[in-house]
Amino acid sequence: MKKSCPCCSGKLYEECCEPFHSEEKFAPTVEKLMRSRFSAFAIPNGEYLWKTTLPSKRKFHDKNDLESWGKENTWTKLEIIQSSEKEVEFKAYFTDKFGKENIHHEFSTFKKVDKKWYYVSGKFLD
Ligand SMILES: [Zn+2]
Repeated sequence: MKKSCPCCSGKLYEECCEPFHSEEKFAPTVEKLMRSRFSAFAIPNGEYLWKTTLPSKRKFHDKNDLESWGKENTWTKLEIIQSSEKEVEFKAYFTDKFGKENIHHEFSTFKKVDKKWYYVSGKFLD
């Protein structure tokens, strides 16, 4: 069955974030990379989250932690507030394991290395 993409784009998963998750394509813009990372939390796909992190920053992250963080929360909505060539401000809505609704508001920075975009770091807002 065809499923809609968890990133809330309104598109089918196979026509949205799946080609990035399967590494068939690389996200051409930071907004698309951000969307595919949100979907990777929803699925979850810790491997993808780790691989799309800038190699020099990977030591601050752990694939299994990323995967568990994705799994223990229910990712309900992604809202892109604004994006530019290298930055994205977004709100990720999720329900945690205690049933509490949360909003993760972040301003993320990305970097392009060898034609591929990577997540560098984020500043938490609110
Ligand atoms: Zn998507």
